[in-house]
Amino acid sequence: MNPILVLGGGPAGLSAAAELGTLGAPTLLVEREKFLGGNPERWRYSLLVPDLKPTAEVLGGLLRRVGEDPRIERRLSTVITKVEPASKGFRVTLQTAGAEEQRDVSAVVVATGFEHFDPHRKLEYGYGRYPDVIDFKDLEGMITDDRILRPSDGKPPRRIAWILCVGSRDVQVGNPWCCRLGCAVSIKQAVEVRKRHPEIEAYVYYIDIRTYGLWEDLYWKAMEEYGVKFIRGRVGHVTLAEGGSRLLAAGEDTLLSRPTEVPFDMIVLASGMEPGRGTTEAARLFGLKVGPEGFLAPEVSDLNPIDSGVPGVFYAGAATGPKAIVDSVTEGMGAALRAYQYARD
Ligand code: SF4
Repeated sequence: MNPILVLGGGPAGLSAAAELGTLGAPTLLVEREKFLGGNPERWRYSLLVPDLKPTAEVLGGLLRRVGEDPRIERRLSTVITKVEPASKGFRVTLQTAGAEEQRDVSAVVVATGFEHFDPHRKLEYGYGRYPDVIDFKDLEGMITDDRILRPSDGKPPRRIAWILCVGSRDVQVGNPWCCRLGCAVSIKQAVEVRKRHPEIEAYVYYIDIRTYGLWEDLYWKAMEEYGVKFIRGRVGHVTLAEGGSRLLAAGEDTLLSRPTEVPFDMIVLASGMEPGRGTTEAARLFGLKVGPEGFLAPEVSDLNPIDSGVPGVFYAGAATGPKAIVDSVTEGMGAALRAYQYARD
């Protein structure tokens, strides 16, 4: 059997590759970055929702399985530049550091993931203009290093605000969808900050809280055990206050129907999810259907979110829409089985 190509080395791709290895299938794992682990590794996520386990613990097992399995060939810093039909499967051209190589593969798992929304695009929040406006992937790195300090002067903040739905549920930037995770991750961060530094006040500005399913528990814990304060409303814009030493979030409290202006030392933007670079590229190369949001569209999204509709191509993870790691890993297993069945028949 020619190898099964897994495109993308984030949680979904790692899960698919590990599963294929367990099935005994030769596997070619291709990742455009020079490391495996996807966004959690790239942005050094600290604890992962919903179980608040360290990233290394959640992904470590998968990385080990993929790293130790001789049936899995790992190609980092590599992209696919050309795809041609082959007798069964595809002939793909891999490009690594300018050098090209052709390989025949029997099936493909597309696990190209997502990109965080670029908060520079929301000019009104001042990301990139005010150093103490950061986004939640920036804060993940700070929490991981246990150095929650204002970028402007290196001092500990006294009061932090999180603004949810940045680049999500926002037709102005062309992203009407919900990112599914921004609420839970922001609340998790507020809890982590309060746990380590109870002296820091934490405020979360929300339109409505979407901690779906069992994750709702985190929301209540944040309020009742950790004293995180929630303000329902939109922040219209952020400016400097107190001679430039603090930030001012101006907006509306929609529960009290009144305008609000609150000074903060740091503001964290919950930047949503957009299709990954590799997703658009994979759609072009393999002729895959793309939905109106730019994510890959499965053939039958409700009954079978894994089959693409193109014979031999299967989906896993956030390439088809915002997804939690647990869902990405589950889909990785499913896509591995579907790809294996296809390649073997
Ligand atoms: S998950 Fe929360 S932060 Fe993300 S778009 Fe939905 S409501 Fe907004």
